[in-house]
Amino acid sequence: DPRVPRINAAIRIVPDFPKPGILFRDVTTLLLDHQAFKDSIDIFVERYKEQKIDVVAGIEARGFIFGPPVALAIGAKFVPMRKPRKLPGEVVSEEYTLEYGTDRIEMHVGAVQPGERALIIDDLIATGGTLRAAINLLERVGAQVVECACVIGLSDLKGQEKLGGRPLFILVECE
Ligand code: 5GP
Repeated sequence: DPRVPRINAAIRIVPDFPKPGILFRDVTTLLLDHQAFKDSIDIFVERYKEQKIDVVAGIEARGFIFGPPVALAIGAKFVPMRKPRKLPGEVVSEEYTLEYGTDRIEMHVGAVQPGERALIIDDLIATGGTLRAAINLLERVGAQVVECACVIGLSDLKGQEKLGGRPLFILVECE
């Protein structure tokens, strides 16, 4: 896709953030480039508009940037998957492993119905632990995860293997 190089070029790489040795991919610079931001949303919309998606699930925080415009354009609802203790209602919760320790994401009970077709959106997949937790949450309430979509994939971390065969769509592959 000829739009992908511009999207890639708009992502800033910040060395040693949030700690030494990490090359952080900063998507806030992509949001400053109207054409590149629009292209990234358009590619997702073109891919999913005919797929009868009922729900777009976005992962806090940057899945809340890319998920809602896609949901609106394809006629799906948007469900936020949040960090612990943010949602006011009853939640289902899924823990996952980080490099050091664990984290958790939560979703409101009743937001997604059994049998609904779900698309999960986040900005970036590294180890795949976050997306796997999101898949588990949706499947626990009986949804069908059609695909996970990210702007950036860090290929050397082999995150896709954690997804247990669920499809993954990536705009920009990084080493
Ligand atoms: P994973 O669970 O796949 O190891 O990590 C993915 C999660 O961490 C995503 O929610 C993503 O937003 C965040 N993340 C990890 N590294 C980066 C990075 O370099 N840039 C950005 N924007 N997010 C990152």
